[in-house]
Amino acid sequence: MEKKPFVTLEKIQEIVKTYPTPFHIYDEKGIRENAKKLQKAFSWNKGFREYFAVKATPNPFLIHILKEYGFGVDCSSMTELIMADKMGFSEKDMQDGIMFSSNATPAEEFVYARKLGAIINLDDFTMVDFLEKTAGIPEKICCRYNPGGDFKISTTIMDSPGDAKYGMTKHQMIEAFKLLKAKGVKEFGIHAFLASNTVTNEYYPVLAKELFELAVELKEKTDANITFINLSGGIGIPYTLDKEPNDIMLIGQGVKKVFEEVLVPAGLGDVALYTELGRFMMGPYGALVTQAVHEKHIYKEYIGCDACAANLMRPAMYGAYHHITVLGKEDKPCDCKYDITGSLCENNDKFAIDRMLPKIEIGDYLFIHDAGAHGFAMGYNYNGKLKSAELLLKENGDVQMIRRAETAKDYLATFDFCDIFKDVE
Ligand SMILES: *Cc1c(COP(=O)(O)O)cnc(C)c1O
Repeated sequence: MEKKPFVTLEKIQEIVKTYPTPFHIYDEKGIRENAKKLQKAFSWNKGFREYFAVKATPNPFLIHILKEYGFGVDCSSMTELIMADKMGFSEKDMQDGIMFSSNATPAEEFVYARKLGAIINLDDFTMVDFLEKTAGIPEKICCRYNPGGDFKISTTIMDSPGDAKYGMTKHQMIEAFKLLKAKGVKEFGIHAFLASNTVTNEYYPVLAKELFELAVELKEKTDANITFINLSGGIGIPYTLDKEPNDIMLIGQGVKKVFEEVLVPAGLGDVALYTELGRFMMGPYGALVTQAVHEKHIYKEYIGCDACAANLMRPAMYGAYHHITVLGKEDKPCDCKYDITGSLCENNDKFAIDRMLPKIEIGDYLFIHDAGAHGFAMGYNYNGKLKSAELLLKENGDVQMIRRAETAKDYLATFDFCDIFKDVE
């Protein structure tokens, strides 16, 4: 696929007068169009709901946009639960607005999740007991499934659930349902996340078939009242140019087909489908914008930027490819080979290695694509680096700051009990 920035050089030159680089910028129009498409793709399912995975892009301004479409949120920690509460997802009119999918869960998080009325997604059989002792057993609950082995689509191995720490075995699912039912649970859900960043329209239908068949078996063996199935995250985006984006309409239709083949004949045609997409909802609609501030000619050609892995960790952590556009040079030939680096004292702090790009001048702005999910969120403070601002490019072309850049004072805030830093601004 072709990748075009959603902002022009002229717009960035205007923005930097107020908000210096580096910053993450998000495209409201793209987010909205994509959210509407997802709703449409699953509109055939009466109870369908997307619970946006907060961890992907934990910004309340962006999540408020999704809330307008009736989405809930999927939280994985105390802080995310607190955010969800403050954003109004625990309110009655949101009706089960929060999913709490965590693992190795601390007791106080279960207590708080229950207080907010979140749907708890139990990661393990032993958690039944733990939940009962700490927060009590709710009437509606979800259990997370791990089929083990490899997750395959025809002969291609997509991921290896057998090596993943999440979820319960089938036997444990059955036992958990029986036990929870005996403890008063009235409504059950099933959840599984078996492959990450899948760029194929087959993932959801194949996963759905497996979960639908499991639902039928669980209903037979435990007579549990299964009211929802959570397909979780995992629909990916094409980071590289050789891939094509997933077609969410086709995916919706693929899931519908197996729904009608497996659930409807088993009398489970009223089951609601939930998703917990993160990357798919936000990934392509966010970018990291950074300025080339240095060049270096040694054994290789380097361009040094004002952003670093602390702003976008995926290349350093996973060797992930993020496409880069040199703004204003979209039509220039890519005839120079660069390593694009940040300033961390870590040799893996490179946004790109041996990347063919147009000749870069100091002062050029680089648009690092597909940083809208698991981008800013994974940021960290190594080397005392500060996290960037987040900006929203609104539909009307205005730019709104939706998170300010961190300052040294923020970084030092956890030393506020001693006074050597008290005059740092
Ligand atoms: C991370 C996560 C998601 C979102 O995953 P994406 O790959 O961003 O779609 C959804 N559900 C759970 C439980 C997760 O841990």
